[in-house]
Order: sequence, then C-alpha cells, then structure tokens
Amino acid sequence: MKTLRIIALMIVSALMFCACAGPGGNSRASDSSAEPASAQISESEPSLEESSEPELPPAEIEAPETIRVLEPRGREETPDLLSYASTDGENLAVSGEYDLDVPGEYSLNFTAENAQGKITEKPFTLKVLALPYNEEGVLVEGEYETVKGYPLVVRDGIAYVDGYLLANKTYALPETYLPGGILPEAENALAEMRAAAPQEIRGKVYIRSGYRSYAEQRYIYNSYLLEDPKEVVDSYSARPGHSEHQSGLAMDILCASTVLSQQEEYKVVLDWLGENAWRFGFILRYPEGKTDETGYIFEPWHFRYVGKELAETLYADGEWITMEDYFGIDSAYKN
Ligand SMILES: [Zn+2]
Repeated sequence: MKTLRIIALMIVSALMFCACAGPGGNSRASDSSAEPASAQISESEPSLEESSEPELPPAEIEAPETIRVLEPRGREETPDLLSYASTDGENLAVSGEYDLDVPGEYSLNFTAENAQGKITEKPFTLKVLALPYNEEGVLVEGEYETVKGYPLVVRDGIAYVDGYLLANKTYALPETYLPGGILPEAENALAEMRAAAPQEIRGKVYIRSGYRSYAEQRYIYNSYLLEDPKEVVDSYSARPGHSEHQSGLAMDILCASTVLSQQEEYKVVLDWLGENAWRFGFILRYPEGKTDETGYIFEPWHFRYVGKELAETLYADGEWITMEDYFGIDSAYKN
C-alpha cells in the first residue's frame, strides 16, 4: 500500500510539473480541455521510460536452419520442435503451419520475447521426411533424404546413400542384382592390402567367403530355418537380398566365426586388418558394440569396400562409425 501511494504521488507531481513546464504544455492542456490529464500523461511518459527503463536487447534464439524428422512410421514419438531451439528470452514458440504427419518441407519461425515483450523471429525449414519403403518394407523408387541430410536414392530396386550402395536389414538388394563376383575395385583394393600386410600374416589375408547371389543366400537362410525358429535365424543369417555379400563389395577375410576369431593365430590377422583396412578403402562393417545400429554382432572378419575417403572417415582413428550412424539410416527388418 505504501509503495502504491508513493507512486501515485510521483505521478501527480510529474503531471503538475508538466502542466506548468512551458508554453507547449500549457497550450496542449487548454486545447484538449475535455481530457487534459490524458494528453499530459502521454507527453510525460516517454521521458519517464527513458530514464527508468531503457530498451532491452531483443531475445536471442539458437536453432538449426533445417530440422529433419521422419514421417510417423519412422519414429516412436512425436518430435518436439521446441527441443531443437534455445533462447535467453521467454515464451519460445513455433509460428507457421505444418503437419508432422505429412511428409514435406515447411518454412517456419521460432519466436521468443524479451522481458519487454519484443518478439524475435528465427526462420527455419522443417523437413518431414518420407521413408523410402512401403508398409511391407519394399523399396519405392525415388529420391529421398536421410535424417542426417544425405541424399538417399532408390533406383532399379537398389538404395544408394550419398552414392554408396546399401545392403542391410532395412535395405534389400533385388534378386536381379547379380554382379557375379567381387567387383574389380574391391578386388584391387584387397590385392593392395595383401601386398602391404606384414610378411608373417600376408598369406592369411584371403577371402574366406566373398560374393553370394540372392539365390545362394536364400538357400542358406532357408536351410537354417529347418533347424531354428525365424527370430533365431535372423540373429545370425541375413534374409535373401539383405546380405551385403550379394553386393560384390563385401568379404569375410580368413574366417567367419566368433570362436575362431578369438584364437591367437586368427586374432593377430584380424587385428591388423581392423587397424589398417581403412587405408585401402575397406571398412569394418559390423564393429564391436554397434549391434543396435548395424543389426549384427561384432564381425571382425567382415569388410566392405567403400573407397579410401569414406573408409578414413568411418575409421575415425579406431572408433569406427557405422554407415547407419554416419548417414542416418536404420537396419531392421520391416516385416
Ligand atoms: Zn560377412
């Protein structure tokens, strides 16, 4: 109550001061005789504001220029767009029309206010990305984009991410894709790698299992089905079309067995490959601890040719980034 009274007194004294301030104040007061008080208040307000409440800087918003989310089939929960932005102001919001359930590109703004209610706008593009396969998991021809912004193209039934052929549990190769053997670029890279290997292991850098056609993979997978239930077979054998061995770019070197790979004579070879294969354009396709990304257990013998540039990036000084993580794709059967 006391404070209110003081403020009231201050306003009254300010009004009085203005009223007798000079000819301007006087003439206005007499011109608008019906409402002299309001005219005088509007005149005195700016000077009060200037002295006690300087204009604050606008709120700052930090947000990416582009936000990519998958269409509903590709996500577990509805994305919260506000979680992509931060502000030193208040009332962070999104303005503009969009539909997280409909693939497309939306031009939107993040908005925030400073303490004086001044609004800042930060434009961004929301991309709701269509998945490259239908409800049955069958690839649909076209051009797409991954959540990490890489181009994903499905052409003649084959998916390529940033130009690299894909074969994993999500992306199958068609039965008609028949390179017939290990492709020349992978064959040459293997020869180069073998020549560079230390003398004592050189003879062990050979293909234990290389190219497998769709039909061969189907035969293998189906024969496993005679022994084990499907979900068990899926944990150790690829369904036809989903094996990278069909690509002509992948090979198991020396062995293809977890038990053997741990024996010293095998381990010394696989360890050298794990540390050096990238220099020749190969990646360790199923690294340790990355089963959630690749869909496969650690396979220290399985190498995929991708070329030296990508191999060096994915090697990441021995950390091994998976293709799935790097490009922003998944590897899981859809049916
Ligand atoms: Zn393999």
